[in-house]
Amino acid sequence: MAGLTHHLNAIRSFFNTGATRSVDFRKKQLQLLKESILKHEDALSTALFNDLHKSPEEVWITETGMVLSEINTCIQSLDEWMAPQPVPTNFVNIPGKSYLLPEPLGVVLIIAPWNYPFQLLFMPLVGAIAAGNCAVLKPSELTTATEKIMGQIITEALAPNYVLYAPGEGAALIPDLMDHFRYDHVFYTGSTAVGKIIYQKAAAQLTPVTLELGGKSPCVVTANASLKVAAKRIINIKFSNAGQMCITPDYLLVHHSVKEALIQQLKAIILKFYGPHPITSYDYGRIVNNKHFHRLRNLMEGQTILHGGEHNEEQLYIAPTLINAPSVEAAIMKEEIFGPLLPVIGYQNDAEALAWIRKNENPLALYIFTNDKKEADQWLQQVPFGGGCINTAAMHYLNKNLPFGGRGNSGIGRYHGRFSFETFSHIKGILKARTWPDIPLAYPTLKGKLKTLKKVI
Ligand code: NAD
Repeated sequence: MAGLTHHLNAIRSFFNTGATRSVDFRKKQLQLLKESILKHEDALSTALFNDLHKSPEEVWITETGMVLSEINTCIQSLDEWMAPQPVPTNFVNIPGKSYLLPEPLGVVLIIAPWNYPFQLLFMPLVGAIAAGNCAVLKPSELTTATEKIMGQIITEALAPNYVLYAPGEGAALIPDLMDHFRYDHVFYTGSTAVGKIIYQKAAAQLTPVTLELGGKSPCVVTANASLKVAAKRIINIKFSNAGQMCITPDYLLVHHSVKEALIQQLKAIILKFYGPHPITSYDYGRIVNNKHFHRLRNLMEGQTILHGGEHNEEQLYIAPTLINAPSVEAAIMKEEIFGPLLPVIGYQNDAEALAWIRKNENPLALYIFTNDKKEADQWLQQVPFGGGCINTAAMHYLNKNLPFGGRGNSGIGRYHGRFSFETFSHIKGILKARTWPDIPLAYPTLKGKLKTLKKVI
């Protein structure tokens, strides 16, 4: 504990030197980080295979490639993002000039989960570095192989009084990290339950937060959808990382007129993508640990399985599984599934589908499959959610021109690309006045000036 406090104070002192502010420093650190990631790329890939059975290709698409691309974007865009941004000046302040001046927040704490253990720790880190901050990194303790390699990447590239890597068990370590040191921002990704603990700890010190949480993200397939494409895209995302993805379709709401046809397509696509024995598939992942394996087995209990359902505890394997119309009261419809189980629920009309969605307010994502633009627009408007897609799922996450984040139960704040830079910056509003002319109207006494003031202001 004393050692940790010493490290945290050293980081604060380093930030206070102002060394992290210059554009050259920021670009240099991003470059060092990039080189270290590339140096350990193979080891990282092996670690992610050991922790979650991810193939090197999947690691590149969802972990390494995303982070390297984010680093490149930041290096290319930093001069523009850091430049003071002029804004119009109001009448009373003319002939002054007004502008927005971004500055670093200070020392930020970044806490990450295990499902994309590298990407979800490093994406916010890249934003924090780009915005000129120091950072403390708390990775997930569940993906142990990846945790070790990430430690090497960080400690070889960045000084510990600039970016501190702090691994350990969350429940034990977070009080040590948060109770005796005031951060300028806390960026947390993980479950809503732990998000509440983090939010309370941050609130005790009036520290602002970004919370990237979970929830049940619905996927609506209307009578006007292209079923073949819908099935392919839903299965591709739902069973990626064995369903352990925060923005995966949690459950399907399918118009009753196309439900049977969609189910046939879904089954055919599962067979096509993962073969008759997905346990042997190159592309199919594993559940992170026994606790989550048993949680998922319990969610399946008593449900009508349309496809899959096989499991193997020794290998932490659960087959891609389709479940028919669970009751609204079933546990599987009350908690985020976060695994390879996909409930398929038929609906007769929009009101009925909406009622299902409203059982779990403010999902992180919403997906609509339809070829009718008016219908898609209606769905976008009637559900409050973080972000989403029309005719695909999860792909909005890959476009850094879109802000990523939840709302309400699914999160607070947003990031990716320029949005990350803004999240980790404070934007100062500056008015630069001229010393001439010096109009007497604004000075005491104001007596007798009301008519003129009403005209001017
Ligand atoms: P988690 O909440 O268990 O863990 C996240 C982090 O919190 C870890 O670093 C862990 O060590 C720490 N932690 C755990 N218990 C703690 C405690 N009692 N006190 C303090 N810290 C604690 O989450 P998880 O299981 O790793 O991740 C799964 C959840 O995260 C899902 O709900 C998923 O939807 C969500 N998620 C959200 C996003 C997003 O971008 N919105 C991305 C990935 C995952």
